[in-house]
Amino acid sequence: MAEPTIGIDLGTTYSAVATMVEGRPQLILNRGGGRLTPSMVGFLPDGERVVGERARALVEHSPESVAFAAKRFIGRKWTPEIAADAKEVVPYPVVAGPQGECRIKIAGRVVPVTQISAMILGELKLDAEAYFGRHVSHAVITVPANFDDGQRAATKEAARIAGLEVMRIINEPTAAAVAYGLDKNFTGRALVFDLGGGTFDVSILEIKDGVYEVRATGGDAHLGGEDFDNRIVQWLIAQVPEPFREAVAKDRLSLQKLKIAAEKAKRELTDAVEAYLSIQGIGDHGEVPRLTDLETALTRQFFEILSRPLSERCLAVCEQVMAEAKLDPQSMDAVLLVGGMTRVPLVQQLVADFFGKEPVPGLNPDEVVALGAAVHADEVMQQSGRALLIDVAAHSLGVGVLGGKVKRLINKNTSVPCSAREIFLPGQHGQSHVRIPIYQGDSDYQDENRKLGEVSLQHINAVDRSQAPIEVVFELGTDGMLSVRATDLKSGTTEALRIEARNTELSPQEEQKLTRDQAKYAEQQSLNDAERQKQLFERMLEKSEKLVRMLDQSANENPSEEARAAVASVRTLVDLGRAALKANNLQQIAEVRNRLSRLVR
Ligand code: AMP
Repeated sequence: MAEPTIGIDLGTTYSAVATMVEGRPQLILNRGGGRLTPSMVGFLPDGERVVGERARALVEHSPESVAFAAKRFIGRKWTPEIAADAKEVVPYPVVAGPQGECRIKIAGRVVPVTQISAMILGELKLDAEAYFGRHVSHAVITVPANFDDGQRAATKEAARIAGLEVMRIINEPTAAAVAYGLDKNFTGRALVFDLGGGTFDVSILEIKDGVYEVRATGGDAHLGGEDFDNRIVQWLIAQVPEPFREAVAKDRLSLQKLKIAAEKAKRELTDAVEAYLSIQGIGDHGEVPRLTDLETALTRQFFEILSRPLSERCLAVCEQVMAEAKLDPQSMDAVLLVGGMTRVPLVQQLVADFFGKEPVPGLNPDEVVALGAAVHADEVMQQSGRALLIDVAAHSLGVGVLGGKVKRLINKNTSVPCSAREIFLPGQHGQSHVRIPIYQGDSDYQDENRKLGEVSLQHINAVDRSQAPIEVVFELGTDGMLSVRATDLKSGTTEALRIEARNTELSPQEEQKLTRDQAKYAEQQSLNDAERQKQLFERMLEKSEKLVRMLDQSANENPSEEARAAVASVRTLVDLGRAALKANNLQQIAEVRNRLSRLVR
């Protein structure tokens, strides 16, 4: 049997992994039985690492030991602005690493962001391996459409550390469109409205003959579910009795408790019209604790009043992205919802009103990205070649010129592959060589862009600068690689550069060490998992045997072809399962377990 492939949605707040089962994408439950895994990593006092739900549980008692939302910092160069920005959105400090990359300070240690992401990917890999009962090493991983080369490369690095070979990195909106079934049979324009835990992303896709072209992207990196939670937190603080209020507003542990309660209430209000909140032990957690409790209720109606401005901000972003692409709400043929926050009834209603159409129904918005990635992974493995993914340049590309400015050659949102050509003159008369720095970014100023590299032309003869034209050609490929060619038109001398994304955040030694650590951890986990899986399977077989006896009895009482077939298929699986247990064949145990759970579901 071919090696299984998986699709991974590595989200800011939650991550998910999916695979193809009988021709359809299906989410793989994590080993705790959950559909989604919190994108959280923590360290216990003895150094043991905890990931996902266990890390989330740790937040409540020891928030300084847990990292979350690492995706905000992956593949980004550390700057004072990023550190200041981080203060607004996460409780842990973000510091500079040896290569100028971002690192996260938790539990008294400084952890590379790629390691945090690697731990999450590693956990999803283990979940997939428990599901298949065998090694899984190939995955399609999704990233936001506006991730730049550095962020994509760092995501790949995280995957390498986790022991995963990345078949493709694909854009989240494209994966969503694939999952929603906008494929060969759909021609038109889809707007993907992705409101997650911490960020809001909008993408407009043009879909034709199974080709997905990202026409435009935009978003707000500071708008997401947490802002909705924070509105509830502020409302809660206002209700704390006066003598405790100030202490609660300053106390980290109390705020954390309020936040957890607020998020829970927000989720409840998706289905209920009222949610009850009961928060114990908030106040001053100092040496002499002064604590109180808070009991209150929040109606959906009031939550909507609190949060409406945030939902409206999302629509303003949509308007802006459409305006940049010279499109209007009526020109969207389909609206796709992605991200857990789009379950909120007010968000759904505002989106439907704004676009004048109901969003495409049928899937859980927080699962679609992983499902689409699984479909794509399967296609790549089968080499069906159906999904030719065409993108746009997510950022402008240009050349640094005098005055610290950038002359743009390729504009943001231009469809790739594309090329551009421009003639430059040396800055001064008599110059004998020129340096041509290449920048990626949307600002007119070099300082505010990312420098990708530099081309140098030697031995130019610029006695009169106007007589020494230099031609610069940019070619951007579908793989996101930029080729730059500079030619001294007078002499014909050419220098070329192919700009690979920085493909490492870490030194090779550090990457190797982290990869080894991760492999060791995974091996230990796999051993524990295998034992647990066998015990669970034993119980499942016992239940199935009982079921066979019941089915057998009812087939005897009411004989029918179908009843007999049902007994036979469960019995065959039980026999297979017993044999697999005896032979300690983990793969076969997993196969039988998965088939049995589908049969008796
Ligand atoms: P994502 O990063 O896409 O997984 O989004 C997670 C965000 O969706 C978090 O802010 C969650 O609180 C929110 N969320 C998940 N499920 C629900 C729900 N049923 N109702 C309201 N919000 C939800």
